[in-house]
Amino acid sequence: MPRITKRILVTGGAGFLGSHLCERLLAAGDEVLCVDNFFTGTRHNVHHLLDHPRFELLRHDVTFPLYVEVDQIYNLACPASPIFYQMDPVQTTKTSVLGAINMLGLAKRLKIPMLQASTSEVYGDPEVHPQREEYWGHVNPIGLRACYDEGKRCAETLVFDYVRQHAVAGKVMRIFNTYGPRMKPNDGRVVSNFIVQALRGEDITIYGDGSQTRSFCYVDDLITGMVSLMATPADVHGPINIGNPNEFTMLELAKLVLDMTGSRARVVHMPLPADDPKQRRPDIAKARELLGWEPTIQLREGLAATIAYFRNVIDE
Ligand code: NAD
Ligand code: UDP
Repeated sequence: MPRITKRILVTGGAGFLGSHLCERLLAAGDEVLCVDNFFTGTRHNVHHLLDHPRFELLRHDVTFPLYVEVDQIYNLACPASPIFYQMDPVQTTKTSVLGAINMLGLAKRLKIPMLQASTSEVYGDPEVHPQREEYWGHVNPIGLRACYDEGKRCAETLVFDYVRQHAVAGKVMRIFNTYGPRMKPNDGRVVSNFIVQALRGEDITIYGDGSQTRSFCYVDDLITGMVSLMATPADVHGPINIGNPNEFTMLELAKLVLDMTGSRARVVHMPLPADDPKQRRPDIAKARELLGWEPTIQLREGLAATIAYFRNVIDE
């Protein structure tokens, strides 16, 4: 039987993860409606897709309602880097909360599935390690990160209320730190910062003593997990952690980046930002069981591809 082409809405589609998702969906034969307000994303990220016959780009802010006809929604719109989500914190909360309401409303009207890009930040500075989906988190509701963390938590609440109240096929994916080509050089997140600093021979900025940990997932693995979650039956709602459980300190990451770039940049220590989580590692048992998913690309391999990308896009 011929495969039926789906029309898929990707909000935040011109961002880092969104642009990779758009590519993956087009490669699978689907039509993509990419919606973005270009706050942190750019037309450049999807430039190579603009002439594709199944790709459409629309400038739109998800805090306003959107009336389109589609078969699935991936709701990724939201700045993800602390520097950018703290630049206009009220807009960040609006994007998560109003964006979720608008996309869930659309999913309700069209009776279609909606996948919400949530985050490991819903666990805050976790007291449970590694983080399982059952853990409710440890978030400062009034701190500098709250616009993002609480916005995303509320978006999760909305998904589950639309599931219960309106029978929407909502799906919540909790994304752990993901990196790869098309992160912005000035994005502010640690992997892009360290690589760009190393390539330019600038100081490598470790915040605090560098003993805090993160678990880094390469973008291709992440997108596979995302598409697999969308493909689950309508009654699978998650939340599901998607991330790479291999954990590194920021000192280890800095050393690895210096080693792989052959850079002689110095490591300097800067103040640790407020509420910076001390450790983070996903428990991915649920993803393994429900999606048959686990990451295949380990840090060295993913960093090699990311370093190659940044060598091309920045002036060293
Ligand atoms: P990104 O900043 O590159 O992409 C976000 C995109 O959303 C950008 O293109 C931006 O312009 C767009 N956007 C922001 N506000 C919008 C609005 N009001 N209306 C329309 N578009 C808007 O970040 P990313 O890393 O690609 O993250 C994508 C999603 O995944 C986000 O929802 C983020 O919270 C989530 N996430 C990412 C990570 C990660 O490590 N990359 C981790 C956890 C969660
Ligand atoms: N970090 C750092 N130097 C940088 C950028 C970030 O040491 O130049 C640290 C940051 O304090 C945090 C970790 O790296 O402990 C991951 O930061 P990122 O902003 O990438 O993601 P998040 O904190 O949201 O997980």
